[in-house]
Amino acid sequence: METEVKFTVGAVAPDIWQINEKGAGQDVDCYLVVGSERAVLIDSLMSRGDRRLYDIVREKTSLPVDVLHTHGHGDHVGAELKEFIDAGCDIYLSPKDLPLVGMFGAGYPSDTFKPLEEGMTFDLGGRKLETIALPGHTPGSVLFLDRERRQMLSGDTVGSGHIWLQLDHSEPLHVFRDGVKRLEEEIADLRGLVIYPGHRSQSAVQLNGAYITHLRELSDMVLSGEMAGDENPMLAGRFPNARVVSYGLVQSLVYDINNL
Ligand SMILES: [Zn+2]
Repeated sequence: METEVKFTVGAVAPDIWQINEKGAGQDVDCYLVVGSERAVLIDSLMSRGDRRLYDIVREKTSLPVDVLHTHGHGDHVGAELKEFIDAGCDIYLSPKDLPLVGMFGAGYPSDTFKPLEEGMTFDLGGRKLETIALPGHTPGSVLFLDRERRQMLSGDTVGSGHIWLQLDHSEPLHVFRDGVKRLEEEIADLRGLVIYPGHRSQSAVQLNGAYITHLRELSDMVLSGEMAGDENPMLAGRFPNARVVSYGLVQSLVYDINNL
């Protein structure tokens, strides 16, 4: 396992920077989205890297920054928040995921976070990000959609190569499926949609709107019994009821046979 944590920064689209953290067993991405008046950082990584995340953000923009979290897992609400808190940035997380913060060791008092809710829109000046709730991976999982530019920033909610729904606090598969169906309808007219997930390196290809349809079809097939997942030896010790299915652009969906 690498112990040295490195941050790598690259532009994935105009005014969107992907900031990758690699090391200490992690390969996780957050994204800085910059408008004409404000910026948002979507997720805040896990470890104290080789330089401060706050400094990386400030190298790219001097505009006011809000920090939005896709969910409460510690590799996305990490040790890098301190400088943002000290700088007075507003920091958002779904209240449903507050109990999860600190699972990986980075504890923050709950009053650190402003409530992030379905439908909240962040107007950055010249671009808007809409909050869409999609419970599954965690109860408070959300994603952010720029309809005009057809960009989705999704954390682990959808799009990370391996979607984990087998965790103790994950929602049942049918709840996830209903959320994916709603999302599929929301994006039906958004041709050319591009998805930027929280573990981008886990996907071999750039994910798009067809991926969301595949995810809904796959969930339907598992729920109807048409498709059954396989046990995965890597997961069996910790999650004996976990099963893994793949379909189309969905590399793997992991669910719990007792939580359908
Ligand atoms: Zn997660």
